[in-house]
Amino acid sequence: MFDTLQERLSGILDKLTGRGALSEADVDTAMREVRRALLEADVALDVVRGFIDKVKERAVGAEVVKSVTPGQMVVKIVHDAMVEILGSEGSALNLRASPPVPILMVGLQGSGKTTTTAKIAKRLQEREKRKVLMASLDTRRPAAQEQLAILGTQTGVETLPIIKGQTPIEIAKRAMSEARRGGFDVVMLDTAGRLHIDEELLAEAAAVRDIAKPNETLLVADALTGQDAVNLAKSFDEKIGITGIVLTRIDGDGRGGAALSMRGVTGKPIKLMGTGEKLDGLEDFHPQRIAGRILG
Ligand code: GDP
Repeated sequence: MFDTLQERLSGILDKLTGRGALSEADVDTAMREVRRALLEADVALDVVRGFIDKVKERAVGAEVVKSVTPGQMVVKIVHDAMVEILGSEGSALNLRASPPVPILMVGLQGSGKTTTTAKIAKRLQEREKRKVLMASLDTRRPAAQEQLAILGTQTGVETLPIIKGQTPIEIAKRAMSEARRGGFDVVMLDTAGRLHIDEELLAEAAAVRDIAKPNETLLVADALTGQDAVNLAKSFDEKIGITGIVLTRIDGDGRGGAALSMRGVTGKPIKLMGTGEKLDGLEDFHPQRIAGRILG
């Protein structure tokens, strides 16, 4: 579909006969291609600008070692800078607190929030031997609470019994006290989603946050949403304060620009990736893989 960045840069830079240090003019030419590749990958413009400035600083004057071409050299600098931004922090969930440790799941409807809640619960229970309780706080969509209960049965993770008519706050309180009583290690709170970000949605999630005091507040975002992901991450981070991002639909055919945009705008780590509809389709975030995809 696209030429790889390597191919594009080779075409431009490898014509340079003189080896030695990369000049500012060479780097400027190369950065035009990098910029194009990032925009094609749907990375937000502000993030692209900041990234290019950073890479340019490193690349100008860099010595081109004998074993590589100038094109390969620039690609390596770009790739390394991107991996650094995407994944300089570890992606492990922070469960260091006295149990039950609350994890709040937020995001838009259809992003994969409920599925991801079950995936994380399953993983914590199976791999880390934590006793997990899941609760759906989505009182608006009639089927949402039942959906989580079904996922609980499929994963062998307990779900909080549904009491019709309770508010999200009441459910959150009940989940915490039930978890304390039942000796659970982790409580996953799946908040309601909407089709669009709105004040009511954010206020509700903030109110639940104040009750549950979560260790982690994870924003679930669809990797295929491109630039919309920036507003999403900004709003949720400003209003609720997220601790990390889970990027779903990495198995789709997007270029993954959303990852760089969200990380660039919020500074919050991408902790996990959803890699399919199945309940074991969850992986640690691989910055190398996403950088490779964004750069093409
Ligand atoms: P919610 O409205 O945010 O709670 O979204 P759901 O959890 O109900 O997910 C919506 C749809 O996306 C379902 O069909 C899920 O199976 C699917 N889904 C969730 N995560 C992934 C993923 O990582 N990859 C793919 N391909 N599909 C996913």
